[in-house]
Amino acid sequence: MFITTLLRLTISLVFLLSISACQQATPSYKTAIFSFGTLIQVEVSDVNESQAQKIFKAIEDDLKRMHVLWHPWQSGPMGRTNSLCGMAGTFSAPTSVIPLVIKAKQLAIQSEHLFNPAIGNLVKLWGFQQDSFDKNTPPADDKIQALLKANPRMTDITIKGVRFTCRNPAVRIDLGGIAKGYALEKIIDNLKQNFQVKNIMISAGGDLKAIGRHGERPWVIGIRDPLATDKQTAIATVKAKSGDSVFTSGSYERYYLANNKRIHHIIDPRSGYPAKGSLSVTVIHPDATTADAAATALFVAGPNQWIKLANKMGIKYVLLIDDKNNIHVTQAMLDRVEFIKEPKSLFVVWP
Ligand code: ADP
Ligand code: MG
Repeated sequence: MFITTLLRLTISLVFLLSISACQQATPSYKTAIFSFGTLIQVEVSDVNESQAQKIFKAIEDDLKRMHVLWHPWQSGPMGRTNSLCGMAGTFSAPTSVIPLVIKAKQLAIQSEHLFNPAIGNLVKLWGFQQDSFDKNTPPADDKIQALLKANPRMTDITIKGVRFTCRNPAVRIDLGGIAKGYALEKIIDNLKQNFQVKNIMISAGGDLKAIGRHGERPWVIGIRDPLATDKQTAIATVKAKSGDSVFTSGSYERYYLANNKRIHHIIDPRSGYPAKGSLSVTVIHPDATTADAAATALFVAGPNQWIKLANKMGIKYVLLIDDKNNIHVTQAMLDRVEFIKEPKSLFVVWP
Protein backbone atom coordinates (compact mmCIF):
# COMPACT_ATOMS: atom_id res chain seq x y z
CA MET A 1 0.00 0.00 0.00
CA PHE A 2 2.74 2.46 0.87
CA ILE A 3 5.19 3.70 -1.63
CA THR A 4 7.87 4.47 0.87
CA THR A 5 10.13 6.59 -1.26
CA LEU A 6 9.14 10.19 -1.05
CA LEU A 7 7.74 10.83 -4.43
CA ARG A 8 6.58 14.25 -5.33
CA LEU A 9 3.76 14.32 -7.75
CA THR A 10 3.71 17.27 -9.98
CA ILE A 11 0.16 17.22 -11.06
CA SER A 12 -0.16 20.51 -12.99
CA LEU A 13 -1.86 23.80 -12.23
CA VAL A 14 -4.31 23.21 -9.43
CA PHE A 15 -4.16 20.38 -7.12
CA LEU A 16 -6.77 17.68 -7.24
CA LEU A 17 -7.05 16.75 -10.83
CA SER A 18 -6.82 13.87 -13.11
CA ILE A 19 -3.48 12.33 -13.69
CA SER A 20 -3.14 10.94 -17.15
CA ALA A 21 -1.97 7.60 -15.92
CA CYS A 22 -2.70 6.06 -19.22
CA GLN A 23 -1.31 6.33 -22.65
CA GLN A 24 -4.75 5.91 -24.08
CA ALA A 25 -5.43 5.83 -27.78
CA THR A 26 -8.44 8.13 -27.46
CA PRO A 27 -7.45 11.76 -27.14
CA SER A 28 -8.82 13.87 -24.34
CA TYR A 29 -9.46 17.60 -24.44
CA LYS A 30 -8.82 20.01 -21.60
CA THR A 31 -9.83 23.51 -20.73
CA ALA A 32 -9.61 25.85 -17.74
CA ILE A 33 -12.22 28.44 -16.82
CA PHE A 34 -12.05 30.94 -13.97
CA SER A 35 -15.33 30.91 -12.01
CA PHE A 36 -16.62 30.63 -8.41
CA GLY A 37 -13.42 32.43 -7.42
CA THR A 38 -11.31 29.50 -8.53
CA LEU A 39 -9.88 27.71 -11.54
CA ILE A 40 -12.26 25.16 -13.01
CA GLN A 41 -10.44 22.48 -14.98
CA VAL A 42 -12.22 20.17 -17.36
CA GLU A 43 -10.98 17.10 -19.14
CA VAL A 44 -13.24 15.16 -21.48
CA SER A 45 -12.39 12.03 -23.42
CA ASP A 46 -14.00 10.00 -26.20
CA VAL A 47 -15.30 13.04 -28.05
CA ASN A 48 -14.04 14.89 -31.10
CA GLU A 49 -12.70 18.42 -30.99
CA SER A 50 -15.88 20.12 -32.11
CA GLN A 51 -17.93 18.20 -29.50
CA ALA A 52 -15.36 19.15 -26.86
CA GLN A 53 -15.69 22.84 -27.74
CA LYS A 54 -19.49 22.65 -27.44
CA ILE A 55 -19.17 20.91 -24.09
CA PHE A 56 -16.72 23.54 -22.79
CA LYS A 57 -19.04 26.34 -23.91
CA ALA A 58 -22.01 24.70 -22.12
CA ILE A 59 -19.95 24.38 -18.92
CA GLU A 60 -18.80 28.00 -19.12
CA ASP A 61 -22.36 29.25 -19.66
CA ASP A 62 -23.67 27.20 -16.73
CA LEU A 63 -20.89 28.37 -14.44
CA LYS A 64 -21.47 32.04 -15.29
CA ARG A 65 -25.19 31.74 -14.63
CA MET A 66 -24.85 29.83 -11.37
CA HIS A 67 -22.11 32.07 -10.03
CA VAL A 68 -24.43 35.10 -10.30
CA LEU A 69 -27.41 33.21 -8.84
CA TRP A 70 -25.75 32.02 -5.67
CA HIS A 71 -23.13 34.67 -4.98
CA PRO A 72 -23.31 35.35 -1.22
CA TRP A 73 -22.34 39.01 -1.11
CA GLN A 74 -22.91 40.53 -4.54
CA SER A 75 -26.39 41.74 -5.42
CA GLY A 76 -28.38 38.99 -7.10
CA PRO A 77 -31.04 36.43 -6.14
CA MET A 78 -29.11 35.20 -3.08
CA GLY A 79 -28.32 38.74 -1.97
CA ARG A 80 -32.01 39.62 -2.30
CA THR A 81 -33.05 36.53 -0.32
CA ASN A 82 -30.62 37.52 2.44
CA SER A 83 -31.91 41.09 2.62
CA LEU A 84 -35.47 39.79 2.90
CA CYS A 85 -34.42 37.27 5.58
CA GLY A 86 -32.87 40.16 7.49
CA MET A 87 -36.31 41.75 7.75
CA ALA A 88 -37.65 38.51 9.28
CA GLY A 89 -41.01 37.69 7.79
CA THR A 90 -42.60 35.83 4.90
CA PHE A 91 -41.65 36.57 1.31
CA SER A 92 -41.46 34.94 -2.14
CA ALA A 93 -37.91 33.78 -2.73
CA PRO A 94 -36.35 33.87 -6.20
CA THR A 95 -37.02 30.43 -7.74
CA SER A 96 -33.36 30.12 -8.81
CA VAL A 97 -32.17 29.80 -5.20
CA ILE A 98 -34.92 27.56 -3.78
CA PRO A 99 -33.67 24.02 -4.66
CA LEU A 100 -30.16 24.77 -3.40
CA VAL A 101 -31.44 26.38 -0.18
CA ILE A 102 -33.67 23.31 0.43
CA LYS A 103 -30.69 21.01 -0.07
CA ALA A 104 -28.50 23.21 2.14
CA LYS A 105 -31.11 23.06 4.89
CA GLN A 106 -31.33 19.24 4.70
CA LEU A 107 -27.55 18.91 4.88
CA ALA A 108 -27.31 21.42 7.74
CA ILE A 109 -29.78 19.30 9.74
CA GLN A 110 -27.95 16.05 8.89
CA SER A 111 -24.65 17.60 9.97
CA GLU A 112 -26.11 18.75 13.29
CA HIS A 113 -25.54 22.30 12.06
CA LEU A 114 -21.75 22.02 11.87
CA PHE A 115 -22.33 22.67 8.19
CA ASN A 116 -24.30 25.83 8.81
CA PRO A 117 -24.71 28.07 5.79
CA ALA A 118 -26.88 30.46 7.84
CA ILE A 119 -23.73 31.95 9.45
CA GLY A 120 -23.05 34.35 6.58
CA ASN A 121 -22.68 37.23 9.04
CA LEU A 122 -19.85 35.39 10.85
CA VAL A 123 -18.09 34.55 7.58
CA LYS A 124 -18.35 38.24 6.67
CA LEU A 125 -17.14 39.37 10.10
CA TRP A 126 -14.02 37.24 9.71
CA GLY A 127 -13.44 38.98 6.39
CA PHE A 128 -14.07 36.13 3.97
CA GLN A 129 -16.95 37.66 2.07
CA GLN A 130 -14.59 39.56 -0.17
CA ASP A 131 -12.31 38.66 -3.05
CA SER A 132 -9.10 39.76 -1.38
CA PHE A 133 -8.47 39.25 2.33
CA ASP A 134 -4.67 39.16 2.71
CA LYS A 135 -4.63 42.35 4.77
CA ASN A 136 -7.48 41.38 7.09
CA THR A 137 -7.27 41.37 10.85
CA PRO A 138 -9.39 39.13 13.12
CA PRO A 139 -12.60 40.69 14.50
CA ALA A 140 -13.13 41.69 18.12
CA ASP A 141 -14.44 38.93 20.38
CA ASP A 142 -17.54 40.87 21.49
CA LYS A 143 -18.68 41.11 17.87
CA ILE A 144 -18.23 37.35 17.47
CA GLN A 145 -20.15 36.66 20.68
CA ALA A 146 -23.03 38.91 19.58
CA LEU A 147 -23.42 36.93 16.34
CA LEU A 148 -23.12 33.62 18.20
CA LYS A 149 -25.85 34.63 20.60
CA ALA A 150 -28.22 35.28 17.70
CA ASN A 151 -27.70 31.57 16.79
CA PRO A 152 -28.73 31.65 13.11
CA ARG A 153 -29.64 28.25 11.68
CA MET A 154 -31.20 26.94 8.49
CA THR A 155 -34.08 25.65 10.62
CA ASP A 156 -34.98 29.31 11.23
CA ILE A 157 -36.26 29.30 7.65
CA THR A 158 -39.53 27.56 6.75
CA ILE A 159 -39.95 26.86 3.04
CA LYS A 160 -43.39 26.26 1.51
CA GLY A 161 -43.22 26.31 -2.27
CA VAL A 162 -41.70 29.68 -3.12
CA ARG A 163 -42.66 31.18 0.25
CA PHE A 164 -39.85 31.56 2.75
CA THR A 165 -40.50 32.50 6.36
CA CYS A 166 -37.38 33.70 8.18
CA ARG A 167 -37.83 33.73 11.91
CA ASN A 168 -34.34 34.94 12.79
CA PRO A 169 -33.14 38.26 11.37
CA ALA A 170 -29.52 37.14 11.98
CA VAL A 171 -29.77 34.51 9.22
CA ARG A 172 -27.57 35.31 6.21
CA ILE A 173 -27.15 32.40 3.82
CA ASP A 174 -23.60 31.83 2.54
CA LEU A 175 -23.52 28.88 0.17
CA GLY A 176 -19.73 28.90 -0.23
CA GLY A 177 -19.52 25.50 1.48
CA ILE A 178 -21.89 23.77 -0.93
CA ALA A 179 -22.38 25.78 -4.15
CA LYS A 180 -19.44 24.27 -6.03
CA GLY A 181 -20.73 20.76 -5.33
CA TYR A 182 -24.25 21.61 -6.43
CA ALA A 183 -22.92 23.37 -9.55
CA LEU A 184 -20.81 20.34 -10.55
CA GLU A 185 -23.78 18.02 -10.05
CA LYS A 186 -26.03 20.19 -12.24
CA ILE A 187 -23.38 20.66 -14.94
CA ILE A 188 -22.71 16.93 -15.18
CA ASP A 189 -26.48 16.19 -15.35
CA ASN A 190 -26.78 18.62 -18.24
CA LEU A 191 -23.78 17.13 -20.06
CA LYS A 192 -25.09 13.59 -19.67
CA GLN A 193 -28.60 14.45 -20.82
CA ASN A 194 -27.98 16.95 -23.58
CA PHE A 195 -24.49 16.12 -24.83
CA GLN A 196 -24.37 12.36 -24.13
CA VAL A 197 -21.05 12.88 -22.34
CA LYS A 198 -19.79 9.63 -20.83
CA ASN A 199 -16.22 10.37 -19.75
CA ILE A 200 -15.45 13.67 -18.09
CA MET A 201 -13.71 15.08 -15.04
CA ILE A 202 -14.44 18.56 -13.75
CA SER A 203 -12.32 19.99 -10.97
CA ALA A 204 -13.26 23.22 -9.22
CA GLY A 205 -10.11 24.30 -7.41
CA GLY A 206 -9.47 20.70 -6.44
CA ASP A 207 -13.05 19.68 -5.67
CA LEU A 208 -14.16 17.40 -8.42
CA LYS A 209 -16.58 15.00 -9.99
CA ALA A 210 -15.62 12.34 -12.52
CA ILE A 211 -17.77 10.15 -14.68
CA GLY A 212 -16.69 7.27 -16.88
CA ARG A 213 -13.02 6.69 -17.44
CA HIS A 214 -9.93 8.37 -18.78
CA GLY A 215 -9.27 6.19 -21.81
CA GLU A 216 -8.51 2.66 -20.67
CA ARG A 217 -7.99 3.60 -17.02
CA PRO A 218 -10.03 5.24 -14.29
CA TRP A 219 -9.55 8.91 -13.43
CA VAL A 220 -6.83 9.21 -10.80
CA ILE A 221 -7.09 11.97 -8.21
CA GLY A 222 -4.34 13.42 -6.04
CA ILE A 223 -5.02 14.34 -2.40
CA ARG A 224 -3.02 17.42 -1.59
CA ASP A 225 -0.46 17.61 1.20
CA PRO A 226 -1.93 20.42 3.33
CA LEU A 227 1.51 21.31 4.71
CA ALA A 228 3.21 21.66 1.35
CA THR A 229 3.88 25.25 0.38
CA ASP A 230 3.01 24.57 -3.23
CA LYS A 231 -0.33 23.28 -4.44
CA GLN A 232 1.18 20.39 -6.31
CA THR A 233 2.46 17.96 -3.74
CA ALA A 234 0.22 14.98 -3.11
CA ILE A 235 0.18 12.75 -0.06
CA ALA A 236 -1.92 10.12 -1.79
CA THR A 237 -3.83 9.24 -4.91
CA VAL A 238 -7.21 7.62 -5.31
CA LYS A 239 -8.81 6.02 -8.35
CA ALA A 240 -12.22 7.55 -8.97
CA LYS A 241 -15.11 5.25 -9.76
CA SER A 242 -17.58 6.60 -12.29
CA GLY A 243 -19.82 9.16 -10.58
CA ASP A 244 -17.50 9.76 -7.65
CA SER A 245 -17.28 13.26 -6.24
CA VAL A 246 -14.07 13.95 -4.34
CA PHE A 247 -14.22 17.07 -2.17
CA THR A 248 -11.64 18.54 0.19
CA SER A 249 -12.04 21.30 2.73
CA GLY A 250 -8.69 22.67 3.83
CA SER A 251 -7.35 25.43 6.04
CA TYR A 252 -4.93 26.28 3.22
CA GLU A 253 -7.65 27.27 0.74
CA ARG A 254 -8.52 30.80 1.88
CA TYR A 255 -6.71 32.34 4.81
CA TYR A 256 -4.75 35.30 6.12
CA LEU A 257 -2.05 35.53 8.76
CA ALA A 258 -2.47 37.33 12.07
CA ASN A 259 0.40 37.12 14.59
CA ASN A 260 1.81 34.29 12.49
CA LYS A 261 -1.39 32.32 12.99
CA ARG A 262 -3.42 31.12 10.06
CA ILE A 263 -6.93 32.54 10.09
CA HIS A 264 -8.82 30.34 7.67
CA HIS A 265 -12.28 30.44 6.14
CA ILE A 266 -14.09 27.47 7.75
CA ILE A 267 -15.88 28.75 10.82
CA ASP A 268 -16.98 26.56 13.72
CA PRO A 269 -20.59 27.67 14.30
CA ARG A 270 -20.27 26.58 17.97
CA SER A 271 -17.37 28.89 18.82
CA GLY A 272 -17.68 31.56 16.13
CA TYR A 273 -13.94 31.10 15.44
CA PRO A 274 -12.12 29.30 12.59
CA ALA A 275 -12.48 25.57 13.24
CA LYS A 276 -9.59 23.99 15.13
CA GLY A 277 -7.97 20.57 14.91
CA SER A 278 -8.03 19.80 11.17
CA LEU A 279 -5.77 20.74 8.28
CA SER A 280 -7.90 19.10 5.64
CA VAL A 281 -10.75 16.66 5.15
CA THR A 282 -11.32 14.73 1.92
CA VAL A 283 -14.64 13.01 1.30
CA ILE A 284 -15.80 10.78 -1.55
CA HIS A 285 -19.53 10.44 -2.22
CA PRO A 286 -21.66 9.90 -5.32
CA ASP A 287 -23.48 13.21 -4.79
CA ALA A 288 -21.19 16.24 -5.15
CA THR A 289 -23.45 18.50 -3.07
CA THR A 290 -23.37 16.05 -0.16
CA ALA A 291 -19.61 15.58 -0.53
CA ASP A 292 -19.05 19.36 -0.43
CA ALA A 293 -21.21 19.96 2.65
CA ALA A 294 -19.80 16.88 4.40
CA ALA A 295 -16.17 17.91 3.85
CA THR A 296 -16.95 21.28 5.47
CA ALA A 297 -18.93 19.69 8.35
CA LEU A 298 -16.29 17.03 9.11
CA PHE A 299 -13.57 19.66 9.04
CA VAL A 300 -15.50 21.54 11.73
CA ALA A 301 -16.13 18.32 13.68
CA GLY A 302 -12.37 17.78 13.75
CA PRO A 303 -10.26 14.74 14.74
CA ASN A 304 -12.30 13.90 17.86
CA GLN A 305 -15.84 14.11 16.51
CA TRP A 306 -15.73 13.36 12.80
CA ILE A 307 -16.48 9.62 13.08
CA LYS A 308 -19.85 10.08 14.73
CA LEU A 309 -20.85 12.73 12.24
CA ALA A 310 -19.63 10.75 9.20
CA ASN A 311 -21.78 7.83 10.36
CA LYS A 312 -24.78 10.09 10.86
CA MET A 313 -24.34 11.68 7.43
CA GLY A 314 -23.76 8.31 5.74
CA ILE A 315 -20.27 9.21 4.54
CA LYS A 316 -18.19 6.08 4.01
CA TYR A 317 -15.00 7.51 2.52
CA VAL A 318 -13.19 10.06 4.69
CA LEU A 319 -9.55 11.09 5.07
CA LEU A 320 -8.86 13.74 7.72
CA ILE A 321 -5.43 15.24 8.33
CA ASP A 322 -5.24 16.77 11.78
CA ASP A 323 -3.15 19.74 12.87
CA LYS A 324 -0.38 17.42 14.09
CA ASN A 325 -0.24 15.89 10.61
CA ASN A 326 -1.76 12.58 11.72
CA ILE A 327 -4.01 10.94 9.20
CA HIS A 328 -7.42 9.64 10.24
CA VAL A 329 -9.12 7.48 7.69
CA THR A 330 -12.03 5.09 7.31
CA GLN A 331 -11.08 1.54 6.34
CA ALA A 332 -13.16 1.95 3.18
CA MET A 333 -11.09 5.01 2.20
CA LEU A 334 -7.82 3.31 3.15
CA ASP A 335 -8.70 0.46 0.77
CA ARG A 336 -8.87 2.98 -2.06
CA VAL A 337 -5.96 5.36 -1.46
CA GLU A 338 -2.34 4.88 -2.33
CA PHE A 339 0.01 6.90 -0.17
CA ILE A 340 2.86 8.63 -1.93
CA LYS A 341 4.28 10.04 1.24
CA GLU A 342 4.20 7.62 4.14
CA PRO A 343 1.94 9.07 6.84
CA LYS A 344 3.59 10.00 10.13
CA SER A 345 0.81 8.16 11.90
CA LEU A 346 -2.37 6.63 10.68
CA PHE A 347 -5.59 6.07 12.63
CA VAL A 348 -7.95 3.72 10.86
CA VAL A 349 -11.62 3.49 11.66
CA TRP A 350 -13.95 0.74 10.57
CA PRO A 351 -15.67 0.68 8.04
P1 ADP B 1 -13.78 25.54 -0.26
O1 ADP B 1 -14.83 26.52 -0.72
O2 ADP B 1 -12.46 26.15 -0.06
O3 ADP B 1 -13.77 24.30 -1.08
P2 ADP B 1 -15.55 24.66 1.81
O4 ADP B 1 -16.38 23.84 0.88
O5 ADP B 1 -15.25 24.03 3.12
O6 ADP B 1 -14.18 25.08 1.20
O7 ADP B 1 -16.34 26.01 2.03
C1 ADP B 1 -15.86 27.03 2.84
C2 ADP B 1 -16.79 28.21 2.68
O8 ADP B 1 -18.07 27.88 3.26
C3 ADP B 1 -16.33 29.45 3.40
O9 ADP B 1 -15.54 30.27 2.56
C4 ADP B 1 -17.64 30.12 3.78
O10 ADP B 1 -18.17 30.79 2.66
C5 ADP B 1 -18.55 28.94 4.06
N1 ADP B 1 -18.48 28.45 5.45
C6 ADP B 1 -17.54 28.67 6.42
N2 ADP B 1 -17.80 27.97 7.54
C7 ADP B 1 -18.94 27.27 7.28
C8 ADP B 1 -19.72 26.34 8.05
N3 ADP B 1 -19.41 25.99 9.30
N4 ADP B 1 -20.82 25.82 7.45
C9 ADP B 1 -21.18 26.16 6.19
N5 ADP B 1 -20.49 27.01 5.42
C10 ADP B 1 -19.37 27.56 5.95
MG1 MG C 1 -17.62 22.27 1.28
